[in-house]
Amino acid sequence: MDSALRPFAPAIPDRLAAETVQAMDAADPLADRRSLFALPAGLVYLDGNSLGPPTVTMVERYTDFLVNEWGARLIGGWYEGWMALPERLGDRIGRLIGAPAGATIVADSTSINLYKAARAALALRSDRRVVLIDEADFPTDRYVLAAAARDAGMAVRAMPARRLQEAVEADVALVAFSHVDYRTAAERPLAAIVDAAHAAGALVLVDLSHSAGVLPVDLADSGADFAVGCGYKFLNGGPGAPAFLSVRPDLLGETRSPIPGWMAHADPFAFAGEFEPAAGIRRFACGTPPVLGLQALAIALEAFADCAIPALAAKARRLGSLLLATLAAEGAAGKARLISPTAEDRRGAQISLAHPHAAALMAALAERGVIGDFRPPDIMRFGFSPLILRYEDVWRAGRILARLLLEHETQAGPAV
Ligand SMILES: *Cc1c(COP(=O)(O)O)cnc(C)c1O
Repeated sequence: MDSALRPFAPAIPDRLAAETVQAMDAADPLADRRSLFALPAGLVYLDGNSLGPPTVTMVERYTDFLVNEWGARLIGGWYEGWMALPERLGDRIGRLIGAPAGATIVADSTSINLYKAARAALALRSDRRVVLIDEADFPTDRYVLAAAARDAGMAVRAMPARRLQEAVEADVALVAFSHVDYRTAAERPLAAIVDAAHAAGALVLVDLSHSAGVLPVDLADSGADFAVGCGYKFLNGGPGAPAFLSVRPDLLGETRSPIPGWMAHADPFAFAGEFEPAAGIRRFACGTPPVLGLQALAIALEAFADCAIPALAAKARRLGSLLLATLAAEGAAGKARLISPTAEDRRGAQISLAHPHAAALMAALAERGVIGDFRPPDIMRFGFSPLILRYEDVWRAGRILARLLLEHETQAGPAV
C-alpha cells in the first residue's frame, strides 16, 4: 500500500473553527481525488451513496468511445474487447471487494443478479425449505428473495438482521442480507453470519451495494458464497450502471443461472441446439453485454486506481463523525435522532437522522446547496463519498443543517 494512502483518522476537536477543518483537508491523503470529478460549483453532494457523480474524464473518454469504437469499428468492436468487458470489469470490482480473479461478472441490475444468485444457491440446497432474510432489507432484496424462494418451492422467514446468525437451523437453505443497511448504515458482521450459516449447512448471499468501493470487504476471506451489488453508487458508474455478481470459486462449477441466455453459453457463436454453461463466471451472464453502460463504468473505476479501500473507509467514516461533531458544536445535538451506529467501525459511509419533518428539512437543505436524501417515513440520509468530499464541505453542511434544526424547533416546538 502506498504510504500516502494509509488509513487516516484525524481527531475531531471540540471547537470546530474553519481553520481546524481546513487543516483536516490539508492533511487528507485523498484530497487530490476530488479534482477527478465533475461537480457543480458550490454544491455539497452528500448523495454519492445513491448516485455517484461523473469523472471529469467521462465526457471526453465516453465521446471517444462513441466516435472511435462504436462509430468506427461497428460490429468489429465485439471482437476487439467488448465481449470480454463483463469479466474484465468484474475482476476490477473483485479487487475492491476481496474476490479472487475470475469470480465476479458485471451484468444486468442488482435486482436481477439477486434473483440469479438466489436461485443458483437454492438449487444447491434443494432439500431444504427456508430462506432467511433481513426484514428491513432494501425492498428489491426482500421482494426478489421472496419470489426466488417461492419459485424454488421454499418459504421466506424475515427477521431483524441481528437475529440472522442465531436463526440458522437445519431447514435453512440460504441466508440473504445487505452488508450495510441502506437506512441506518449499520454494518453487519459478514464473516460471523457466514460462519453460522455454514455451520448449519446453509449458503450466504450478501448484497454489497452500500459497501463496494467504500468499505473494506474481504469476500474470499469471509467465505460468503454469493455476492451482488450496484455499479452506480460509490462506484460512480452512472445512472442505471450495470451491477455485479460474484460466486465463491469452488462452488462455481456446480452453479446454474436460472436464466440460461445465449451469452452464458460455453460457445455462444456455435448457436448450438442445447444450452451448455460457460465454464467460468460467464455462466451468470444472460443476454448481450450492455456495452454503453460497461464503458462508462470502466471509465469511472479508473478513479479508484491506487486507492486503498481502508483509507477510503477511514475518511468516509470520519466525515460522518464530523457531521455529528458539527451538529453538536452548533448546539443542535439531539435535535434529530441519530439512527446510525455511533461507533465508526460499525457503520458504513453514511449518517442517518430521524426527524418528523425530515422531508421538509431535506428540501430546505437542497435550497441551500446541500444534497442528501429523504427515506420515508422520517429519515434524512447523508452519504460520504470519500473521493469527492472535503472535510470543509461536510462542516458547512453540518452548520446549515444545525441552523435549520434549531429554527425548526423554534417554529414547530420540540421535534423529538
Ligand atoms: C441500491 C440498492 C439496490 C438497487 O437495485 P437495482 O436493481 O439497481 O435497482 C438493491 N439493493 C440494495 C441493498 C441497494 O442498496
